[in-house]
Amino acid sequence: MDQGEPAGLHALLGMCGAYMSAADLALVQTAYTVAAQAHRGVLRVSGEPFIEHPLAVARILASLAIDAAGIAAALLHDTVEDTHYTLDEIKARFGPDIAEIVDGVTKFSLVELAEPGSGTTAPGDGRPTSEQRARLQQETVRKLMLAMLRDPRVVLLKLADRLHNLRTLASMSAAQRAVKARETLEIYAPLAGRIGMQLIKAELEDLAFFYLQPEEFARVNRLLEKEAHSRQAWAERVCEHVKRQLAEDGISAAVNWRLKRPYRAYLETQQSGIREEMLHDVIAFRVLVNTQPECYAALGRIHHLWHHLDRIRDYIANPKVNGYRSLHTAVLALDHRVALFHIRTHEVHRWVQHGVASHWLERAARGEPLDGATRLALDGLSAWVAQLDSWHRDLRLSADDFVNALKSDVFEDQIFVFTPKGHIQDLPAASTPLDFAYRIHTALGDHFAGARVQTRGPDGTPLAREVSVDYALKTGDVVQILTDPNAHPRYEWLAHLRTRSAREKLMRALRPREGTEHGHLPDEPSAETEPDIPGPLLHPSGKPALVRLGRCCYPCPGDEIVGVPGRGRLVTIHRDCCRVLRRTLAKRQQGAALRVDWRAISPATYRAAIAVYGQDHAGFMHELAECARGQGINLTGSSAQAIQDRNKAIVTLICAFPLNARPEAFFRRLRTLPGVTWVERNTQIGCIEPQAGA
Ligand code: MN
Repeated sequence: MDQGEPAGLHALLGMCGAYMSAADLALVQTAYTVAAQAHRGVLRVSGEPFIEHPLAVARILASLAIDAAGIAAALLHDTVEDTHYTLDEIKARFGPDIAEIVDGVTKFSLVELAEPGSGTTAPGDGRPTSEQRARLQQETVRKLMLAMLRDPRVVLLKLADRLHNLRTLASMSAAQRAVKARETLEIYAPLAGRIGMQLIKAELEDLAFFYLQPEEFARVNRLLEKEAHSRQAWAERVCEHVKRQLAEDGISAAVNWRLKRPYRAYLETQQSGIREEMLHDVIAFRVLVNTQPECYAALGRIHHLWHHLDRIRDYIANPKVNGYRSLHTAVLALDHRVALFHIRTHEVHRWVQHGVASHWLERAARGEPLDGATRLALDGLSAWVAQLDSWHRDLRLSADDFVNALKSDVFEDQIFVFTPKGHIQDLPAASTPLDFAYRIHTALGDHFAGARVQTRGPDGTPLAREVSVDYALKTGDVVQILTDPNAHPRYEWLAHLRTRSAREKLMRALRPREGTEHGHLPDEPSAETEPDIPGPLLHPSGKPALVRLGRCCYPCPGDEIVGVPGRGRLVTIHRDCCRVLRRTLAKRQQGAALRVDWRAISPATYRAAIAVYGQDHAGFMHELAECARGQGINLTGSSAQAIQDRNKAIVTLICAFPLNARPEAFFRRLRTLPGVTWVERNTQIGCIEPQAGA
């Protein structure tokens, strides 16, 4: 077995040996043996044995001190997709943890493979439309999100995999290089940045930049190196000087400088129009100390030493959303040249560079045993979510739809909650414990008696409390459903359900029970349901009504509504103020209208009239329609009314929303469009005139 063992394995075991136990090392060795066997005889496009790729990926993770399960998964990560080795075999031999990580990574590869145009087709021909691209990317991002919440190691592995693929991209075709590089800039680099892995992010960006714009890369790189060369001596004198001064104050600090990365420099010059060498932070200094008070002491010392320029940023007192804590200042340093300083603790710096992976690095540094990732996923969840929340801001995508879809689908309208055993469930935002119960099992919903939710207090301590049926679940909640065999479905529950499937299950349980058809339901008398709670609406004929929402006044949930019975079982719903309703009732006898409660009709969708105020310009309507489409909202009508002399317009959109949708999210989105000044529901449409002055 020893024959032909690559040097890469030797290096990997050396790295792992620095922080792993003998048993863990044996696991890594076994995973290597299995993977090498599975990939035997296969070569990469570059000509080297395939196993070199998983080995290199494993080494990237080992440099982050990732645990043995993570390293083993890295070694095995391409076996399921590329060889006869199956996921079940991995599970049987290595256990469910490793199998799950491999499975997660395999799923991403499938999404990527599905990408049209990444094969051998000529560029420009058979290219995916922006819509297809947006959909695929959305799918990728959704999978990344879920995987990340399940086990961060999946994402670390995926990033390492992508990094190595990019490092060895030269042997791919030009078309493949372009696809991979673009995808990296659009999805993987922002993700790496969002979870704090700055080093990986920077390398991904620079590699992608290199492949996409080789000439530009070379030009920027040359400029930066020239800059570094001409300022190196000065930079080193500054470091020495600061270090000595701080030592005099009894502060032991590491002081160093760094050169701006090519892609970042390029981006900033593109945005600002300034030439690369003129960027103020081509070189920046870092002062790393042990404690936060020392950060302030160091800042004071530097300001004492040199005149400081206008901007001081205190991200220690006011950390960034992602938790970043540093002091930033700019001073006129030696030779009256501007020097930018970032002052932070060593711990924060490790975190700045390695993000979520610093969890493993810190533990390895302390010599603590490394455990699985489940606890990390739960403990660090709120931090994760805070980081992910603004991820979309970093996504620089050409396809607007994608960003829209991402915002609404992934970040605004979805939450992730856990069962007491740590299984994850994704639900629409504002879902209740009852939705959760029905999601897990119909019987759990039908016998729902309450819920206990474990959340985290502001200081991170776990808090468990009983919540009411209408409690809006939050991402990270651990939900325990309490049941009672004597509990039974109630009509009023309909008001507390956000998910369609739960409503359907509940409606099924609520249907008139004939005999004991519903074996799982306790057969207590149905007369027990409170009389003042409306059941599903009945037509005066006594049959369940066929409900239609009026197209005259567009009733929305929460409005005061009235039903007008028609032929057959038809009941048309109007808003109280509807002009058509008033006219109809005037023609009929009084009392022909039915008082209706929204809970009794629960339509799948409803239409709302929306007023958009803004500056009219070419393509305005088109932009509004695109925005709606991107949010998955069905635009069924529109009309524009230009207010002359100032180019202003009021556009009325008629939109169909699913019952559980939140139009406010859509309104917010619309308000970000160029030219839009305000968006609100048009409640006047179809209504009798407001009785001004009367
Ligand atoms: Mn791979």
